[in-house]
Amino acid sequence: MKVLKGFQLIDGTGSAPVEDALLVIDNDTISGVGKAGEVPVPEGAEVLDLTGKTVLPGLIDAHVHLFFDPVADPLSLALQESDNTATIRAVRNGAKTLRAGVTTVRDLGWRNFANLDLRNAVALGIVPGPRIVACGQILTMTGGHAWSCGLEVDGPEGLRKGARQQLRAGADLIKLMATGGVLTPGVEPGSPQLEEEEMRAAITEALKAGKRSAAHAQGTEGIKNAIRAGITSIEHGMILDEEAVEMMLERGVYLVPTLSAPYWINLKGLDAGIPQYIVAKNKNIMEKHKKSFQMALKAGVKIAMGTDAGTPFNEHGQSHMELKLMVEQGMTPLTAITAATQTAAALLGIGDEVGTLTPGKQADLLILDRDPLEDITALSQINRIFKAGKIVKP
Ligand SMILES: [Zn+2]
Repeated sequence: MKVLKGFQLIDGTGSAPVEDALLVIDNDTISGVGKAGEVPVPEGAEVLDLTGKTVLPGLIDAHVHLFFDPVADPLSLALQESDNTATIRAVRNGAKTLRAGVTTVRDLGWRNFANLDLRNAVALGIVPGPRIVACGQILTMTGGHAWSCGLEVDGPEGLRKGARQQLRAGADLIKLMATGGVLTPGVEPGSPQLEEEEMRAAITEALKAGKRSAAHAQGTEGIKNAIRAGITSIEHGMILDEEAVEMMLERGVYLVPTLSAPYWINLKGLDAGIPQYIVAKNKNIMEKHKKSFQMALKAGVKIAMGTDAGTPFNEHGQSHMELKLMVEQGMTPLTAITAATQTAAALLGIGDEVGTLTPGKQADLLILDRDPLEDITALSQINRIFKAGKIVKP
């Protein structure tokens, strides 16, 4: 048993912080939490005095690519590298992500189901890393966005079979490419790709297996196709209109904005060796992306934090940057933290295990020296990290 005391508690639910809080960890689980004096302190427990510190849940990054290296052109590298090399990179990227305070991630696509094997390896304790929820392979149309590391499938029959193959391999969700994207040459972010009927076929299979779905969806028409097909989350959502926002609200669809991806491409640009077609496409949609995020936020769409780590210069374990960008675009620090904890856990379907500091949840928590509600960048300097009650060595 461990008892943490004297700190400011941000529990991840969006509630106002509690001063002079106390939290009890029993092995891997939170067994008590609240204001000091209101929670019984078990006898013989190891006590950690955290006066002046802030404690919050471990962060959840709902959109990462652990198998991508954040070089200038990650998809080209993916084409050149062997599966084994990419897997070794991914093991390193997972460890790096955890050491940055991200205790859970959702990995949205790689070849040969390797992300499912990495998920299992972390769960078995073979390698250190965050808890991983993973989609297996991306389902994309022939020549569609990310075809070089996804499974090319066409027509409702093809999508049905592709989804069943992912589920057979143990995928936690199905990832679909509803539009073109920035990193693939020859496709446009605004263009629809998989059709509504194709996505519906895959989503139906996911639902039958009790699983969820996520759509890479940047342009408006593709976003609406994915929503009508029954998608759980819109990834990026770069060009939303009022109707799309309305549809998301009506159906409870989540938005994972990934503001970091265009931010780094824009910041580093051609000078850093990013291909011209990537820089040009990014320039076209960056401002629309910010506007779309603000529209969704204002309307009350459920927003979960995701970085798209692994895209150009978007390093693994930089969730604090995404939170900073979300705050810059109008979120309060408390709402941004909720997007990276409770809301992200709910999107991943693991809200009963992680995401909030409440009794019965896994003891995934971060200890900060500074108050992130005053300055969200406090999350870039973490004093200590617990995953399932165990201290993660920095
Ligand atoms: Zn992505």
